[in-house]
Amino acid sequence: MAWRNRGRRWRGGRLVSKPKPSNFDYRQTDVDELLELIYTLMESGGEITVEKLKMKNEQVPDTDELLAEMVAAGLISTNKNVVSFTEQGRVEAEKLIRAHRLAERLLTDVLLVEEERDIENQACEMEHILKPEIVDNICTILGHPRTCPHGHEIPPGACCMDRKRTAAPAVLTLDELRSGESGRILYIETTDHARLDKLTTFGILPGTIVRMHQRQPSLVVLVGETQLALDREIAQNIHVVKTE
Ligand SMILES: [Zn+2]
Ligand SMILES: [Zn+2]
Repeated sequence: MAWRNRGRRWRGGRLVSKPKPSNFDYRQTDVDELLELIYTLMESGGEITVEKLKMKNEQVPDTDELLAEMVAAGLISTNKNVVSFTEQGRVEAEKLIRAHRLAERLLTDVLLVEEERDIENQACEMEHILKPEIVDNICTILGHPRTCPHGHEIPPGACCMDRKRTAAPAVLTLDELRSGESGRILYIETTDHARLDKLTTFGILPGTIVRMHQRQPSLVVLVGETQLALDREIAQNIHVVKTE
């Protein structure tokens, strides 16, 4: 097969070059990018054809060859030009997407990078180099976010299931603040626009400082001088960074 002739082979599901020019494997990066492209196209629905991938993946001249390598490696299967993931391919793609979207959150919320191009470029590089354990630590520090700054779903990791605390979280959900503690709102995770409008009316929006006034029997927070009773479920969708 072509990829053997080029001195590359699969090892443990990863494509490696031999000899490697550096620590960075360009071929693996091409495979990764294509896995991510397939994943995001699947998210937006519709059939994924070889033509569609070639069109979207113009910067890589040999997409056909790359797809053949991915079939050989058991990452995808093709049926009459329609491409789908194998279980292994889906797992690999989820890992990359997870790392990318968490990196976006880290860069945006904690490192306060504002330039969208910088966020994208950095996240694109980080996704290839972060080990899964480190990705889980980033996830924990960020309070296990479910969406990226663009609103796309972040595939959950093991850390999200048991909300493990291997790293001290920098970002909490509002319901995790103790009485008397304050936090600055970073973002609110909801697709319910009516609810979001209502929260905004009460001044619950990114940038606002809220203080936990009372936790029992119901949650009451202070926004400035105003006391607000909040559903616990809503408070779980409001992500804050502790200020005191
Ligand atoms: Zn994103
Ligand atoms: Zn997590």
